[in-house]
Amino acid sequence: MKKREISSVQKIRDVITTLFPIAAKRFPFFFPLMALETLCDVLRPFLGIYLTPMIVDGLVNGLPFGKLMMYAAILAGGETVFTVIRQLAITALNKYQERLGNYFRERTGEHVMNLDFQLTEDKKALDQLEKANTGMDWYSGGVYGIAEQFFMFAGNVLKIGGFTAVIALRMPLLLAAICVYVAIDAVMAVKANKVELQAYDKLSKVNRLFSYFGWSIVDFRYGKDIRLYDGSSMLVNKWDGYQNDSVDAWKWQAKTTLKYQLVSTVLDVARVVITYGYAGLLAIRGMLTPGTFTQMVESAGGLDATLSGLVWNVTELFKRCNYAYEYILFERYPAAMPKGTKPVPDGLHRIEFRNVTFAYPGTDRKVLDGVNLTIEPGERLSLVGLNGAGKTTLVKLLCRLYDPSDGQILMDGTDIREYDYVAYMKQFAPVFQDFKLFGFSVLENICLKDANEISPAEKERAEKMIRKTGLTEMTEKLPKGMDTRIYKVFEEDGVEPSGGEQQKLAIARALYKDAPVVILDEPTAALDPVAEYDIYRQFDELVENRTALYISHRLSSSRFCDRIAVFSGGRVAEYGTHEELVNMRGGLYAAMFEAQAQYYR
Ligand code: ADP
Repeated sequence: MKKREISSVQKIRDVITTLFPIAAKRFPFFFPLMALETLCDVLRPFLGIYLTPMIVDGLVNGLPFGKLMMYAAILAGGETVFTVIRQLAITALNKYQERLGNYFRERTGEHVMNLDFQLTEDKKALDQLEKANTGMDWYSGGVYGIAEQFFMFAGNVLKIGGFTAVIALRMPLLLAAICVYVAIDAVMAVKANKVELQAYDKLSKVNRLFSYFGWSIVDFRYGKDIRLYDGSSMLVNKWDGYQNDSVDAWKWQAKTTLKYQLVSTVLDVARVVITYGYAGLLAIRGMLTPGTFTQMVESAGGLDATLSGLVWNVTELFKRCNYAYEYILFERYPAAMPKGTKPVPDGLHRIEFRNVTFAYPGTDRKVLDGVNLTIEPGERLSLVGLNGAGKTTLVKLLCRLYDPSDGQILMDGTDIREYDYVAYMKQFAPVFQDFKLFGFSVLENICLKDANEISPAEKERAEKMIRKTGLTEMTEKLPKGMDTRIYKVFEEDGVEPSGGEQQKLAIARALYKDAPVVILDEPTAALDPVAEYDIYRQFDELVENRTALYISHRLSSSRFCDRIAVFSGGRVAEYGTHEELVNMRGGLYAAMFEAQAQYYR
């Protein structure tokens, strides 16, 4: 895969140059505050390093009390000023952690909603989404966590410069020793990091499965099936299984990195012994005064801590940027379909399927195999066929949720791939079998707009659709009328519409969209025959002069249609009017009609 070829350094650069500007644009004060906090943190210790020897040697050599007090006051006052400014900056920064996290989660959500539909079934894309989510979450600490490391790194580089300069004056050899153990420490940290990244890779799939089960178990929509099919033990067992996999990965990581941590601990002890031993020796020989001894020990301690900090910053930056890079990969996930720029002509359209063949991505079976079909502007076409014949698939191709594997779909003589995607999507108002309503108000579900943005005229139109689909009685009974929320996800008094009412709401939403092509894909399955008849009859009136495609295995819908296309073996096996097909001897339509005729006689 492409990402394997990208080096960690490139990833750091990419993360910083891509994500930081996005964050800075949204939150302009974030980076200046980080810089201020870092600056205070860098300057504070040097006040002590500079003034402490003057105070200690002053005490030993009997410097006047007033002068000593002045040094002490500058030290205490300076430290207080730096500490207070830094603390204020930290307090101001705190709120950005949550805000940045939310902002990037929002961006991910937006990107998911705009992703080519077929990628929502693509395992690789889903894995990438999972990696993007976890990668930008606690794994990397998001942009906040990365910026924190980045500024700490910059601050530590400045501190190292300062400490090194001070030590080089009196104990240059100590610098050599420090270099050796920092190098060993860095090697250990890099090794431990590699292990952590391997564990992360292992965990991404487990985490996805794990959270799927976690959500399914608590999601009330699964409640009925779980209870009636006694699914709880299966789900809990599976959940446990994934949890074990997850724990195993963590255990493996802890076990593998233990030896590296042990080496670091031994090094920590060695540092203290070497520094004090060496400085002590110089002091005994009179090469260090008590003040400069304190200064050296403090600077060496500072340099040690800062170098370890720097090693940690670098490894953390590598690690965090590696995780966050998954987010960038997700934002850049290649589109599954080409998109054109041509404007879609106004008015009704002539649609032509030309030799269309299609197999779902990742499968070989041709669900459609050389389909030829023309739909005239304003025509009502019924798509008929046994379950699995490919009717819904044809509609999905027409709506560009997928592209044909072979052949072409033309709208007004132009390949639909050449049209502007968003404008093209506006031409269709489908009601799919598995349509979804949202946990928002009835009105918002019909207009698909935030309640605050719905104009009085739009509300009136939505009410008209509610009347036309026969939902007035239902909405009038609701506590807040059209403003009542669907489902009880957000509100106690939310409404749980029946299957039939949900379908009517979905139909109202489709009619509200006012698109030139309307599609009903077996939307009446949950309706009783009387309601179904009403819906079709009314719908046919409501459709007015628009093009309409009806999919239904109840052939009553076909009678409203100008033409009927019968699907079988991935092709249009029969095509004609109801009268033509019903009289076709040995025909599939005639046989299906005969089987259902009792309902219509
Ligand atoms: P119909 O609408 O005629 O009942 P569909 O178009 O829904 O049939 O399905 C046609 C075939 O395509 C079925 O065998 C179905 O299992 C398969 N199919 C539908 N959706 C997918 C998908 N997302 N991935 C793989 N196969 C699918």
